[in-house]
Amino acid sequence: MTSVSYFRTLILGTCNMLHKGPRPLVLCGPSGSGKSTLIKKLFEEFPDTFGYSVSHTTRSPREGEENGKHYHFTTKDKMQKQIEQNEFLETAVYSGNMYGTSKRAVEDVQEAGKICVLDVDVQGIKQIKQSSLDPFYIFIKPPSIEELEKRLRARKTETEDTLQRRLAVARTEIEYGEKPGNFDIVIENDNFSKAYEELKKFVISNLKQGETVTS
Ligand code: 5GP
Repeated sequence: MTSVSYFRTLILGTCNMLHKGPRPLVLCGPSGSGKSTLIKKLFEEFPDTFGYSVSHTTRSPREGEENGKHYHFTTKDKMQKQIEQNEFLETAVYSGNMYGTSKRAVEDVQEAGKICVLDVDVQGIKQIKQSSLDPFYIFIKPPSIEELEKRLRARKTETEDTLQRRLAVARTEIEYGEKPGNFDIVIENDNFSKAYEELKKFVISNLKQGETVTS
């Protein structure tokens, strides 16, 4: 059996034994930490195992972003109404825009029998900790604020104002991320391949642990 199919059998086998979905993965890390690229690589390597929880946001799409794939792009009014109707697991205001995970987004992935992967900020983490989701919490840390600034500038998606706002948020997120107990693992992304291997190892070993507990 290839390592990929072994991994898949292991996870889905664990899921059947538990008679409920496997624990989701929640990734958090400052904008520019490389979290989206790590998630993308995980999906490329294990396309049938993981499913992405597509968030809602009121920010404008960036070049290459597709509605319904990267985000559900929406308006403040529409999102506000859905929040009032209790349709969201968590919501946040980040750099002047609203973001949120709808309950539907998570259920869609779970109903497809996949492990749900969420990408949220620290505000989202705090709310998810109050919910029944019970995920693994993974923090992706940039090597430094200076490096983060360099990456955000190279990305050319921000104005000077939004870039400065993102850096200010990043400082508080890193502080929260590094605090013992807030995350199950903190992965420093100074080298992409190394960070990806660390992420993969964490996911595989935790799902193995789940199997041992239930068998
Ligand atoms: P970006 O605008 O760069 O795509 O995302 C900005 C921040 O919002 C990132 O830290 C990202 O993790 C976070 N984010 C994306 N989707 C959600 C969501 O559904 N909920 C929360 N709380 N944060 C989100």
